[in-house]
Amino acid sequence: MTSTLPDAKRVLLAAPRGYCAGVDRAVIAVEKALEHYGAPVYVRKEIVHNKYVVETLSERGAVFVDETDEVPEGARVVFSAHGVSPAVHAAAAARSLQTIDATCPLVTKVHKEAVRFASDDFDILLIGHDGHEEVEGTAGEAPDHIQVVNSPDDVDHVVVRDPDKVVWLSQTTLSVDETMETVRRLRERFPSLQDPPSDDICYATQNRQVAVKKLAPSCDVVIVVGSANSSNSVRLVEVALDAGARASYRIDRAAEIDPAWLDGATTVGVTSGASVPEILVRDVLDRLADAGFGDVEEVRTATEDLMFSLPRELRADLKAAGQAPARPTRGPRRAIAVEPV
Ligand code: SF4
Repeated sequence: MTSTLPDAKRVLLAAPRGYCAGVDRAVIAVEKALEHYGAPVYVRKEIVHNKYVVETLSERGAVFVDETDEVPEGARVVFSAHGVSPAVHAAAAARSLQTIDATCPLVTKVHKEAVRFASDDFDILLIGHDGHEEVEGTAGEAPDHIQVVNSPDDVDHVVVRDPDKVVWLSQTTLSVDETMETVRRLRERFPSLQDPPSDDICYATQNRQVAVKKLAPSCDVVIVVGSANSSNSVRLVEVALDAGARASYRIDRAAEIDPAWLDGATTVGVTSGASVPEILVRDVLDRLADAGFGDVEEVRTATEDLMFSLPRELRADLKAAGQAPARPTRGPRRAIAVEPV
């Protein structure tokens, strides 16, 4: 690879990166549930889309299941940060499960928008990836009114009842640029298309994309730490490439770095998805340092201080037991607010 960049090897480290407020809250919710109620604590789907997190919680006694019918009657189950449809709540109630709903409040906001527009009889075009848990949960709020639009190419196939009564909503973890392209094409077809009341793509997704966009043009390669089923991690690879990185790779762990990626490189960008604990990024930086990339410069484009309180059900039980509100238990985390936000 021919590089016009300086000869000194360096790492540009994106900030913000890693854990968002919704992931932080969901992971702490499972940890606190294990501490307070004891193992096993069942979790429907992966609490957040990260292999390391799921493996670590499994070792501590969390049992991950696909559906509520795999949970013993009356047992305790945590719903993941991605949210669930009303049908899942009903199925859990039918089995008398004790639920802890760790749905990110920013996903809940989109659910509420869907319910409101459906009650006003809008056709709702939900931009997102068919089959993703968050999309299933949101679509399940109003299945008769919602259709999923996967990409700009899907727009031509959209059929609505009344073109003057159409709104778009979106999954929280999409590429901002691709979503805006989908909206542009939708608006060409439906000029009266209504926007969501506020951004559905969440602050954390947007901030991580802005940061990687800033460093990508200077990078020979951008390494994104995150799991393959993590939508926002996969988007970061695409955003890095679109923004000018010569190559970009997603990895779960430092051991997956192929030394050939670094051949001839002088600047390596590093970032991580919103479900990735910082310890995995530190491992990547250590491995890069071993390869001669010990000079690390942080590229910060925003500062985040959002916090969410723990799920209501868990908070009530902790309070009744006289326990202090949850604090970070692993890694550099923020405290969790006592009151709902
Ligand atoms: S990525 Fe955004 S919507 Fe998803 S859990 Fe994090 S803050 Fe919530």
